[in-house]
Amino acid sequence: MSLRPSPDRLAAFAAECRRRGVALTVQRRAVYAELADRRDHPTADQVHDALRERLPGMSRATVYRVLETLVEQGFARKVHHPGAVARFDPMTTRHHHLVCDRCGRLVDLEDGAVSAVRLPEAGRRGFEIRDYSISFTGLCRDCR
Ligand SMILES: [Zn+2]
Ligand SMILES: [Zn+2]
Repeated sequence: MSLRPSPDRLAAFAAECRRRGVALTVQRRAVYAELADRRDHPTADQVHDALRERLPGMSRATVYRVLETLVEQGFARKVHHPGAVARFDPMTTRHHHLVCDRCGRLVDLEDGAVSAVRLPEAGRRGFEIRDYSISFTGLCRDCR
């Protein structure tokens, strides 16, 4: 199910890094390319496992750090689920997720009706909503 990241996407990433003065290290390029290639929302450990053969010198801590940088810079998103380890998402436009509570499979869901949800009036509680993403949990095809 993996889509090769298009050379355009990697070129756009490189150009954006240059524009912002973010050093495009070998590690950052490799981690971004791996993440952009996947639709399964991998954990940092899974990204590290996937890159271990190609870049044996890259430590787990480096992968964690690079992923955090990609998130800070808006090149990726972190998907949180209470009680679960953070997973990373190369799709940065608004979308939602279907999460299997048995195997943890996390599938993208783009549905205009879901995105049209009315945001709550959180301002009165002193809270500023900056973003949101909705997760529907249940059982995936394989687990049903
Ligand atoms: Zn499942
Ligand atoms: Zn996603």
